[in-house]
Amino acid sequence: MDKASISSTEGKPIRCKAAILRKAGEPLVIEEIQVDPPQAYEVRIKILCTSLCHTDVTFSKLESGPLARFPRILGHEAVGVVESIGENVDGFKQGDVVLPVFHPQCEECKECKSPKSNWCTRYTNDFLSNTRRYGMTSRFKDSFGKDIHHFIFVSSFTEYTVVDIAHLVKISPEIPVDIAALLSCGVATGIGAAWKVADVEEGSTVAIFGLGAVGLAVAEGVRLRGAAKIIGVDLNPAKFEIGKRYGITDFVNPALCGEKKISEVIREMTGGGADYSFECIGLASLMEEAFNSTRPGSGKTVILGMEQKALPVSLGSYDLLRGRTICGTLFGGLKPKLDIPILVDRYLKKELNLDGLITHELSFEEINKAFDLLAEGNSIRCIIWMDK
Ligand code: NAD
Ligand code: ZN
Ligand code: ZN
Repeated sequence: MDKASISSTEGKPIRCKAAILRKAGEPLVIEEIQVDPPQAYEVRIKILCTSLCHTDVTFSKLESGPLARFPRILGHEAVGVVESIGENVDGFKQGDVVLPVFHPQCEECKECKSPKSNWCTRYTNDFLSNTRRYGMTSRFKDSFGKDIHHFIFVSSFTEYTVVDIAHLVKISPEIPVDIAALLSCGVATGIGAAWKVADVEEGSTVAIFGLGAVGLAVAEGVRLRGAAKIIGVDLNPAKFEIGKRYGITDFVNPALCGEKKISEVIREMTGGGADYSFECIGLASLMEEAFNSTRPGSGKTVILGMEQKALPVSLGSYDLLRGRTICGTLFGGLKPKLDIPILVDRYLKKELNLDGLITHELSFEEINKAFDLLAEGNSIRCIIWMDK
């Protein structure tokens, strides 16, 4: 963005295009909206490109319950450039390249200061407000002057958005912006789960349920840790080809397991159970299968998938007594401000393989096609360019 365009909009509302979800399950509608200037501790950013993560698809279908809100601007995997900053904003200035991240890091609470988890206790318990600092207040208005809901503190399906600094990471402008977008959710989550949550060690056997961007990033993470056998589970055989490029050594198609449960097949393939399993789909039944695939005594299951109907998981109590562990994670246990720059650096040093994850590119006007592509399993990540 050039200096003149920055100074002409700073402190004023911006009128721009946004893709709005007005009703569950319906296509997004591109409308002109007003984006208010950032308040204290907020930054207004111009989105350069955004991609679609399965969580956007899940929320677009959510008809009711506290997490369903309309009208709403979805989108949370994106990269942008700072257009203007609110009061009390340190560390960001106009023109900075930034990643908005749904998961917060206030940098001040006990957990943010501890290496044990990424569960920022100051902000993480609240998924029901529009902005964590200001509750339900919105920075977006439609052409009738009505508020539009934000989405998980990012809302990237708009030319401009306003994000709290607890959700913003400054990154090196050297990384290609489309790759950077992937690091703002799915890919960072997968790699983080392998490194920070499971802490996979050399020679391990691993089962990954779901080979979308999240599952393939888990594969990259465990490959870099030296996993010996990486089993990919997916209904879509097209995912097996790219899976091989991500170090996946064996594949299980649940449709071809016959009478056997997936967990039985994996226990046979691993001589008693995988050391680690990761669920990257979002189905309670497969979370149970992932748990049952691991080795008694020491097996560990990490749940990354967001259950598509918020269903509970049922585990055999005796199976738990066998010493397996299971946990879930948001954003792969990563502290965004600390860990995303590390991932960017490793990508720039060519230590991180993210080839082939971007399968499609579309203009903003075509955003609904990106939903169809992902929901039908025909894309891994589709980049939506705001200026094309
Ligand atoms: P995706 O749609 O790209 O990938 C899902 C994969 O699962 C696809 O390859 C699909 O073919 C496969 N699949 C679907 N149903 C299956 C079944 N019954 N059996 C076997 N394979 C099946 O999704 P994604 O963007 O990679 O996201 C994966 C999950 O991770 C979603 O639930 C998403 O909401 C969640 N997610 C969680 C976090 C987090 O912080 N925990 C972050 C990002 C995404
Ligand atoms: Zn915190
Ligand atoms: Zn996501």
